[in-house]
Order: sequence, then C-alpha cells, then structure tokens
Amino acid sequence: MEPYQEPRTPQTDTGQFSARLSESEGQGLHHQFRVGDEFFRLVLESLEEYAVFTTDTDGTISSWNSGAQRLLGYAEQEIIGKPFALIFTAEDIENHAPQGEFAQALQTGRGKDERYHVKKDGTLFWASGLLFPLFDSEKNLRGFTKIVRDRTEQKRAQQLIAEARAYAESIVETIREPLLVLDTDLRVVSANRAFYTTFHTTPQETEQRVIHTLGKGQWNIPALRHLLEAILSSVTVFEDFRVEDEFPAIGKKVMFLNARTLSRQTHDKELILLAFEDVTERDRLHHLKDEFIHLASHELKTPVTSLKGFTQLLLRRSQKQGDEQTAHILSSMESKLNMLTTLINDLLDVARLQTGKLSQKEEVFNLADLVQEIVQDIQAITPTHHLVFEGDENPSVSGDRDRLGQVLINLLTNAIKYSPQAEKVVVHLVTEERFAMVRVEDFGIGLASVHHEKIFEQYYQVTDQGMNNSGLGIGLYISNEIIKQHQGRMWVESTQGGGTIFTFSVPLHTERPSPQQ
Ligand code: ADP
Repeated sequence: MEPYQEPRTPQTDTGQFSARLSESEGQGLHHQFRVGDEFFRLVLESLEEYAVFTTDTDGTISSWNSGAQRLLGYAEQEIIGKPFALIFTAEDIENHAPQGEFAQALQTGRGKDERYHVKKDGTLFWASGLLFPLFDSEKNLRGFTKIVRDRTEQKRAQQLIAEARAYAESIVETIREPLLVLDTDLRVVSANRAFYTTFHTTPQETEQRVIHTLGKGQWNIPALRHLLEAILSSVTVFEDFRVEDEFPAIGKKVMFLNARTLSRQTHDKELILLAFEDVTERDRLHHLKDEFIHLASHELKTPVTSLKGFTQLLLRRSQKQGDEQTAHILSSMESKLNMLTTLINDLLDVARLQTGKLSQKEEVFNLADLVQEIVQDIQAITPTHHLVFEGDENPSVSGDRDRLGQVLINLLTNAIKYSPQAEKVVVHLVTEERFAMVRVEDFGIGLASVHHEKIFEQYYQVTDQGMNNSGLGIGLYISNEIIKQHQGRMWVESTQGGGTIFTFSVPLHTERPSPQQ
C-alpha cells in the first residue's frame, strides 16, 4: 500500500501542531516551534524505510534524515549544501527531470515520480518519490521536502510478472488450438491468434461478447452453457464436449471443447479457459476406416463360409476313402478357416460397435451353466492346459447369453495363448452384493501396469511381452464394450511375468415387482 496520504502542505500541519501545543500547555510561540522542530526531527529519524530530506528553493539540500543516509549512502554533513540533482541519473538530468519535479510540485502541490536514483557509490536503485513545496506562514516558498522509497523489490516483482505474462502469452499465441478466455458471465475476455484464423473472425467480433452470441450462434447450446456454468460452480474442468455444426466461413466442422477454470487469488471472479480441437479430419478418416472394415469383413464372410463348407465336404470324403494324409491337411485347413471366421466376426463386431448396431438379446439365464459349458468346449480343443472351474453359486443374470459367452471365450483363449509355459487356467464364479463376477486367472507372461488401462482400447497390442502376437488387438475391446452394454465392468490385475487375472462383473437379475403388488 502507498504509505503517503493525500498531500497536505507541511505549513498546515505545523500550524495545527503548534495550535494544539499552545492550547494544552499555554506556552510561547518560540518554544512551540522548538518543541515542534525536535518532534519532527524525531519523526523523520524514525522513518528508517524512507529517505526524507529538504531543499532550498534553488534545490540545494538543507536537511537529511538517517533513512536518506541508509538509502543513498551520503552522510548528513557531506550532502548538505549539495544540489538535489546529485541523486539523479545523467540521463534524467539531461532531460531536466529535477526541474520537472519542482515544477509539478509547485503546480499541483505534490510532485510524484518513479525512477532510478543514484547512490553515493554510483549504483542505481528503483525508487518512488514524493516532492512537496514548503511555505512559511506568509505563504512564501521556502523550499521543498522530498520523500524517497526504495522500490527495487517491487520493480523486480513487476518485471518478473511482466516476463511471466509475456511467456504465457507467447505460449498461448503459438498453440495451434483455438483458445478463448471467458469471464463468469461467459463473456470473451481474450482469444488467441489460432481462434481468429480457425473461425475466420476478428477481435472486434469476438472480445467482450457473450459466447452464445459469437458467429451465427453456433455455441448457443444449452448443454454447453450448463457445462460452463457447472465448471464455475463446482467441477472446474470438462473434456471433449462434441459440437458438430455448420460454421460461418469454414463450413461443417466437428469440434471437441475442453475447459478449465483459472482461479485468481487477487480477484474473486474466476476465468474459464476454453480450448477447441478441430477433429473433422480425424473423424472423417475414422469413418472411412470403419466403413472399409465393415465392407471388407462383410465381403470376406461369404467366400470364407463357402470355403469352410467345401473343406468340410472334402474332409468327410477323404476320411471315407481312407486318405489320411489329405484328411489331415483338410482338417488343419478347417481350423485355419475357423480362425479366419473368428477374425472376420470380430472385425464385423468392431464395425457394428462404431455404428451402435451391436445386437444384444435380452434373456434371463444361469451364468454358472454358461461358464461351465464354455469351459468344457474350450477344454475339448485345448490339449496344453487344464481348465479348472471354481464356484458353487447359480447366479441368474439377464442379457445376451451368446455375447457373454463370446467374452468368456475371448478371455479363456487369451489366458491359454499368453501362458505357453503354464499348465492350468482357473475360472472363478462368485457373487458379490448385486453382481456376479467371473474371474479368469492364468499363470503366464503377465502385463506391466502401464498397459492396464489401454488394453481395452481398439487395436491396442503389447509389444514388450516377448511374444509373436498374431491377433489384432480387438478382442478385449469388444469384450469390454459387451460388458459395458450389460451395465457391468471389466478390469485386469497383472504384473509382468506374474500371470494375469481378468474379471468382469454383470448385475444379478432381480425380479421386478409386478404392477399389482
Ligand atoms: P489380441 O487379439 O491381440 O490377443 P486382445 O484385445 O484380446 O487382442 O488383447 C490385447 C493384448 O492384450 C494382447 O495383444 C496381449 O498383448 C494382451 N493380453 C491379453 N490377454 C492377456 C493375458 N491373459 N496375459 C497377458 N497379456 C494379455
């Protein structure tokens, strides 16, 4: 805070002080001034933080307090009688700054300045100063009082703030994503260059306008307004809010909006930083890829099904004819075609998931029966591992029996595939509160924790397992989506080399009370 109050001429102050003394003590004028001088001298000396000194009317220094000695380095006896300009830089002297201060003080009753001053040893410091004219009781100018305060630290802090601001601004300006800063009324405080270039707009059309009124009103979306209001009141951040619209000048675009609040300690009002990500091209490529996968897998399905039929026909014929060698080749052809069919079905499922068309039947069934059935089926074609089923409960669940079976098949085949050295895989079925949980535990190569979240993403494959992986990285993605469609959850517990447990949970079936009850 500024230490100085509104200017009051020293003449008035001294007058009041004398008047008070004379009233209370009833002493003579001469004595009052002596007491007053001494009093002021003490006050000035106590102002260690401030350099306080007086000059004659021509700017010659006439008094000098200890604060001035501390700050400027000159002792009282060596500076008295020297010109006031001594503490100014050569540049300021050249620009007549000392005279300017005197003129301002005389004109307005107070000269105020911020500048570098020079100490006795020649070093500079940043100072703020006040200069008052001194009048005697006849209102004749007797000189000036100067108060100087060292503001080096404040100047440094200001410079640091300015540097930090310039740094932040340069980052914001170079960021390719359009950014807006909004105030609590959702009015634009500022926008970066990318915003103007992306949306072909100008600061005049943007700043100080409420976000809903920008452009042709494409941000006037109730859900967006709710999110922005919500982050002001509680949540502080939202991510990937999708906006698909026809934008003025740039056409149809898909944008992801991300926002966070910027709290400012010195202001009670927060700001919102709103970032826009143009995902139009990415979306288009995704769409093309999905279409291609859908088309390719669809087109492959029919010939592969025919090939499988012909293979089975030839297999039976060669078995009948006792041609064991051909039968052997045809049976491995059949198993490869089965693998191809699974792959094609998985790809079709991925395409269906993208378009939200993954069919799901709704039936109530015993989950234990399904698990046992699948364990037996997989055991029948697995010579390398012993599949152990554990669980003595018979939970009823409602959902798509085939789809849940597909999830379990995927987990079991993975467990076998990724534990080539192990001899068994254990399947546990338990119920906990309102959920049935199926755990598939293997004793194989395991998964480092960095992969645990990503493993359920499309096409994610682990490359640090030291295994030649033949899959596409979509089995777990499909499984997880199926479980999510059943209002369940899937997760993994594993360490590299320490085996893996995949668990999925699905809600237990509960009889809905009939309307009559
Ligand atoms: P993929 O067809 O490649 O097996 P998945 O989606 O089923 O696709 O699995 C994704 C990746 O997860 C696999 O490539 C593999 O690295 C890892 N993984 C899956 N199951 C296991 C497991 N039981 N143990 C170790 N790694 C596994």
